[in-house]
Amino acid sequence: MNASPESQSQLQSPALSSSDGSTVAAEPWVHPHLEQGVVPIKGRQLRASRCISKGELLMVDVPFAVIPAVDYPDISDGLLCSNPACGVQTLYQYRVNCPAGCLDDVVWCDEECRDGDALRHGFECVWLKRFGASIRKKWGEYDFGMLWLIVRVLAMRRVEGEGEGEGQVGERFKGGWEAIQDFCGSTESWSHSQVRAWTALAKRYLRGSAALPHNLSDEEVVALICREEANSFGLYPRETGVFPVPDPPVDRGEQYAAAVYPRAAIANHSCSPNIMHKPDDHGRMVFTASRDIAAGEECCISYFDLSQCVELRARRDHLQKLFRFVCRCDRCTTEEAAEEQQQEEWVGMPFGEGL
Ligand SMILES: [Zn+2]
Ligand SMILES: [Zn+2]
Ligand SMILES: [Zn+2]
Repeated sequence: MNASPESQSQLQSPALSSSDGSTVAAEPWVHPHLEQGVVPIKGRQLRASRCISKGELLMVDVPFAVIPAVDYPDISDGLLCSNPACGVQTLYQYRVNCPAGCLDDVVWCDEECRDGDALRHGFECVWLKRFGASIRKKWGEYDFGMLWLIVRVLAMRRVEGEGEGEGQVGERFKGGWEAIQDFCGSTESWSHSQVRAWTALAKRYLRGSAALPHNLSDEEVVALICREEANSFGLYPRETGVFPVPDPPVDRGEQYAAAVYPRAAIANHSCSPNIMHKPDDHGRMVFTASRDIAAGEECCISYFDLSQCVELRARRDHLQKLFRFVCRCDRCTTEEAAEEQQQEEWVGMPFGEGL
């Protein structure tokens, strides 16, 4: 991917997965007309360097870390193969578990996938066995998922350090641990009580030790949690960000996993996004242009299901609660102006005349 931007090889879309796994593009891929920019206040953004047509593939990003999120892991067909190079959903009759029995949610398609993942899983296995069930019981599924995702990020950081880290897409987009460190979000982005709660969890469960060998300080781990919470994606079976919302509305389905993507995380939110996103069947995040995009235009996804949060107030409350920002996208600004205009009209109305 180091040819000139106009070359045919770059304009070609990557081979996406096929059901027999024969044409899998394990490498991340970014459209040659998609670039990173930095703007005041919002920080990083994705934008089109030239026009992009509706339906064009914009990005396929490979997760740095993924965790499954299913209700009954022992009998669910929704668990993903733990091998990051594979990541398919596994049928419960056929898959293999960890010989150490660390956690029901840790599965692989077969022995080959398991053996190929020995180094990465070796990092998390002792930690999962020691803390997995007890964290779930004491703190619930959400906190457990957050902690496990952080452990998987640390595991990949370790694997990368061993020289098996992924390559980069030219010079344009960073990958790996380097990209994770650049994510927006810090302790300043979250409430004091939230940061206190994460600090307590980090000190209790994520300190570097024989069970979790890493060299980050408590403060660095908490900072990592703040970045992960602001940038991780839920994985859903159907598209997120279809706009306008079809009538009747189609939701994105039940979440089955959560993941951290080095490149996809750069996309900002809009309530009228020009990108739809959906994971493929290997857990890779796929961005597609949902309308024509002009040169210079910012490329945005929706951080939530637009069919579920419709009204301006509902959208803003949701984003404030989960992502800690006030949305000022075109749709929000237009709807806000219309609301204000309506209020002014109400205030200006003469009361009691002829009623
Ligand atoms: Zn597999
Ligand atoms: Zn294990
Ligand atoms: Zn908005």
